[in-house]
Amino acid sequence: MWSKSFLLFFICNITFILASLCLDRPDPLRLDYLERVSCPMVKENKTYSNSRRNTNMFNLTFTCGITDISLCEKVKNAFESAEQILSDAIMFNQFVNINATFTNICVAYGACTSISSGIETQVIGGAGPSRVMMLKDDDGVYRFYPQSLVKQLGNKVHPKYSDYDINAIFNSEGVSYWFKGDGNIKSDQIDLEMVILHELVHGLGFLTSLNDYMHDIPQGLTPYVVGIINNSGSNYHFIEATFDKYMSVVPTGQNVSDIIKQMDVFNNIQYSNQDNFTTTFLSSPQYNLATDLFSKATKSNSLTILSGDDTIFLETSLTPFNSKSSISHFSSKKYTNTSDFLMRFSIERGKTLQQYVKMGGNYANGPIGPKLRAFLKSLGYTILDSTSNAQTSISTTISIIELIIWCMLTISLTNIITSCFIEIDIFLYEKNNAFKILKLGSHLIGYSA
Ligand SMILES: [Zn+2]
Repeated sequence: MWSKSFLLFFICNITFILASLCLDRPDPLRLDYLERVSCPMVKENKTYSNSRRNTNMFNLTFTCGITDISLCEKVKNAFESAEQILSDAIMFNQFVNINATFTNICVAYGACTSISSGIETQVIGGAGPSRVMMLKDDDGVYRFYPQSLVKQLGNKVHPKYSDYDINAIFNSEGVSYWFKGDGNIKSDQIDLEMVILHELVHGLGFLTSLNDYMHDIPQGLTPYVVGIINNSGSNYHFIEATFDKYMSVVPTGQNVSDIIKQMDVFNNIQYSNQDNFTTTFLSSPQYNLATDLFSKATKSNSLTILSGDDTIFLETSLTPFNSKSSISHFSSKKYTNTSDFLMRFSIERGKTLQQYVKMGGNYANGPIGPKLRAFLKSLGYTILDSTSNAQTSISTTISIIELIIWCMLTISLTNIITSCFIEIDIFLYEKNNAFKILKLGSHLIGYSA
């Protein structure tokens, strides 16, 4: 069986008839819904040059779901301002396409507020990568990469792109926004530009895959769970996000990638159904790794990500664990009133983005702080220094990425071309068999009411 797959890999590779595993979030109003989509390998003839300075490298498709045209225009301007900040910080080789909606989320979701850790939070908005693609990294590990990052790598052969790189939605109701030109910010107002900027950074890949996909009340964390159907059943893989490559546990310094590698021992075993796999996993020694990760995610200063030669402490002080706020943020305790304030999970009302920059010590490069810049560079983005004409060197950590192939193992040599394009039977783990959801790329930010 395996020799057959290697043979197939080789044949597919030389004929460029490859398929990748891609996951899409098609509906920005359903932040948690993801589906597997077909993304055959395509070859481009276009060549891309590096962006010019001062060019906004984002294309915004903006849907305003309210009748207040003046407010719609202000929101659009706030987007453009946030896009410019990112364009000044990152050298994009290709435009990043945003699909953004400003509407009454309360109506769309049926609920405006939720209680978390005893604090009532209100949804302001959310954003995430529209598509992620599974690629083989330079350390041999398969990871889900956000499309916006894959585009910057400049490979002429790549999985087919979605029209949009980032989906975003912001709430038009129940929140008082402040915009540039409004005069002094009021104590109950929020600078929407700061929220947009925060969310766009998530959309560029500042997101963990770690979550509890098997229980309603989280108790163990795994990366994404992907099943592959074979003739005799299915096998299951744990596949992490790019973000997770740089994560370590404190104080041992062990890489989360290594922990996931130890967890991922179920991929050669056939399971007749998902329940069968779940039962096996939950009673296995590997599940202890998941509960250990969970305890780290709910204890202060227990998880870090590499930021150049430095580390960033992640938000692990929230109890109970909150999949929208825990891990995928800078520690609030560590980074409030610092130049790296932007990626904390909550923001205080009554302060503008510029006031935050000032409170953080007036960092010369603005709201994208030094640690965040270093981390984005680790992810694979090229970082610009707005204080000089020099740019930091291009990260080469993922330059030798290999594009993954998931062709059917049972394919015959006579129908390779057709079969490589056939939809392959990969599916996402279904929590409680009730819905096809992976909490990938979805993110909400709240503030205390
Ligand atoms: Zn966030």
